Amino acid sequence: MGLSTSGAARKLGQILRQAGISNEQVLAAIEQTPRQLFMPESLAHKAFENTALPIGNGQTISQPLMVATMTQLLMQHDCHRVLEVGTGSGYQTAILAQLIDKVFSIERIAQLQYQAKRRLRNLDLHNVAMRHGDGWEGWRSKAPFDGIIVTAAATEVPRALVEQLADGGVMIIPVGSEQQTLTVLRRFGEQIEQQRIGDVRFVPLVKGELL
Ligand code: SAH
Repeated sequence: MGLSTSGAARKLGQILRQAGISNEQVLAAIEQTPRQLFMPESLAHKAFENTALPIGNGQTISQPLMVATMTQLLMQHDCHRVLEVGTGSGYQTAILAQLIDKVFSIERIAQLQYQAKRRLRNLDLHNVAMRHGDGWEGWRSKAPFDGIIVTAAATEVPRALVEQLADGGVMIIPVGSEQQTLTVLRRFGEQIEQQRIGDVRFVPLVKGELL
C-alpha cells in the first residue's frame, strides 16, 4: 500500500507481540494499515490504541488484539478463499485482503458496507468482493470457503456457514449472547471439531431484516 509505519503503529505492534501474537505477516499487516481511515475523523487520535471504537449505526471497529487473534488463528490453516461475516468498518477485511488471495465479506447495514468498500478501494485492495446480505445465510454462490471469520457474536453456529465450509476448512466465530466464547470450528467431511479459545465481547450477529 506504500504507507510507512508510524511510531504509534509500531507501538501497537509491540503491545500485540506482548499479548502473544507471533505471526509476523499478521503483525506487519496491522502495523501497515492506516486504522484511522476506518473510523470517524474525531476518533482518529485513538486509531492505534488497542481498543474497539464506535463507527456509527450502533456498531464498532474491533479491538486490534481481537483482529490479530482471529487472523492468526485463521492463518494457521491453508486459506485461499475466506468469507468474513460482518464487514463493519472494513478494517478486518483490509487485514485479510493483505494476507489471503480472495476475500468475500457480508454486511447487513448498507451504509457501513458502502463506506468499507470505498476505504478498500482507496487503499488499492482489490481482491475483496462485498455483499449486502444476511450473514446467517452466508454466500452460497461463492462457497466453498477454506476459512470463515465471523466478527459478530452468533447465538449458535449458523448451519449455512458450516455447509459453506470446505472439507478441512476452518471457522473462527464468537458464540453466545451474554457470555460469548471465541470458537474455532473445523470441518472434516460430516465431522465437526470445535475448540474453545476464550471469553470475548462482540456485538450480536443480528437475526432480522437488512438495513
Ligand atoms: N470486522 C468489523 C467488525 C464490525 S462489528 C470491524 O473491524 O470493523 C460487526 C458487524 O457485523 C457490524 O457491522 C454489523 O452490522 C454486522 N452484522 C451483524 N449482524 C449481521 C448479519 N446477520 N449479517 C451480516 N452482518 C451483520
